[in-house]
Amino acid sequence: MIRARKSMTPFDWELLLDRLSEFYGTGDWRRPYLRDHAENPFQVLVGTILSQRTRDANTDAASARLFARFPDARGLAAAPQKEVESLIRATGFYRVKARVVRSVAREILDRFGGTVPRDYAELVSLPGVGPKTANCVLVFGYGIPAIPVDTHVHRIANRLGVVRTRTPEETEARLREVVDPKYWIPLNPLLVQHGQNLCRPNRPLCPQCPIRDQCATGVALRDGRDPPRPDDRPGRRRPPGAERAPRAARRSGPRATPTPRSTTSPARSTRRGRRRRRRPRAGPS
Ligand code: SF4
Repeated sequence: MIRARKSMTPFDWELLLDRLSEFYGTGDWRRPYLRDHAENPFQVLVGTILSQRTRDANTDAASARLFARFPDARGLAAAPQKEVESLIRATGFYRVKARVVRSVAREILDRFGGTVPRDYAELVSLPGVGPKTANCVLVFGYGIPAIPVDTHVHRIANRLGVVRTRTPEETEARLREVVDPKYWIPLNPLLVQHGQNLCRPNRPLCPQCPIRDQCATGVALRDGRDPPRPDDRPGRRRPPGAERAPRAARRSGPRATPTPRSTTSPARSTRRGRRRRRRPRAGPS
């Protein structure tokens, strides 16, 4: 049974996470390559690097093959490049990824004695490790509260209206301010699950969404209003009197009269047109 929303402000993260957990069923919603290697920070780290720009199924298959052969930093640091390439081929960009994971393994061995660091700054100092990967290691490898922000978390946080950001890095910084740390660990797995099912990049399935009444986009679309946009964020508001017309009015409103095209107007002059005018005409000799 989905509970009614307790309050509108501050944002009720507990209710949101409860509803998503209930909707998708209780269980572990971490992606398999994270779940299967949880509490092994090295495998979480390497699995997350392999997951970049590929599907989860490919990451799962490649991770299983790689870790069956080279389960730790010592083994992977000494692994031949070609063998690693062939083991992770399914992930795409396998030559680059093989180089990166081998050098990560070497640095973990040389700089940290074979143990993946638990410190964010040290993690992002490793080759190929950005904020999302570092936060995945903290959350899924060590159980330390952090907010890994991928495209799903970035998109949904903006649609909910709890942030107005342009990049995942901005989203992470803002979420750290507005979300109580006790909700950080389940936030990523549940929002990723939601982003892969209902809150898709294109055509989100809002009428089926269990958190629609908490979502600025879902409520706006239901009421025929424009959803919030990044340029509505504080400091980027339009001046008074310059608001966008409501969605319905814009759709039915009169169209601007098109400006007639003029072949002589310099403003309408195109590079192609200029080239055409310069080209000598073929004519009777
Ligand atoms: S209401 Fe729509 S936009 Fe909002 S979280 Fe649900 S699916 Fe996404």
